[in-house]
Amino acid sequence: MQSLKDKIRREGKVYPGNVLKVDGFLNHRIDVDFLAEIGREFYRRYADAGVTKILTVEASGIAVACATAAFFHVPVLFAKKSKTVNISDDVYTAEVASYTHKTVNTVMVSREYLTAGERVLILDDFLANGAALQGLISLCRQAGAEVVGCGVVIEKAFQQGHALIEGMGVRVESLARVASMDPETGVTFLDD
Ligand code: 5GP
Repeated sequence: MQSLKDKIRREGKVYPGNVLKVDGFLNHRIDVDFLAEIGREFYRRYADAGVTKILTVEASGIAVACATAAFFHVPVLFAKKSKTVNISDDVYTAEVASYTHKTVNTVMVSREYLTAGERVLILDDFLANGAALQGLISLCRQAGAEVVGCGVVIEKAFQQGHALIEGMGVRVESLARVASMDPETGVTFLDD
């Protein structure tokens, strides 16, 4: 998605530890009009997949998922990272190592909202080593729901995630694939 690559080149900041910051439009301040373009692109790629639900994980995935659901007209379900009084005990859980926080979270969804026979599109902001998507796929498989595919806004293609998720038999669509990044010279993309 050329407009996304341009925006990352213009606004993205590369931090040590292979972290790309795009806080100006995706991870802190949200550019709602631009997210609508992102949602339209995910819709274009998955329009024929019979999607009945979009699944993501809090926090940054939620905006991407909602922008996309506006085109599919399906509900969004987001996995929670901590148990609150609002969520019942009747949950599916998966362990997810956080790339940016260097912690392990138990992510969970209520069994009531993820059920057998659904056709789920899983979305997230970034794909690095694949732990977040792997956890979300696990939640779907526990529920007997079918994962029609995953979509990420930015894939760091020099990390292992894409291969890991495809190895689980799941389609992966990335709107921008970062080939390399460097604090001095910036970001390069695949398919340029
Ligand atoms: P993974 O689970 O694939 O290793 O990492 C994906 C998750 O970590 C995403 O949910 C995202 O929030 C976070 N993440 C991984 N790499 C980056 C990065 O370079 N920049 C930002 N902002 N988040 C990242």
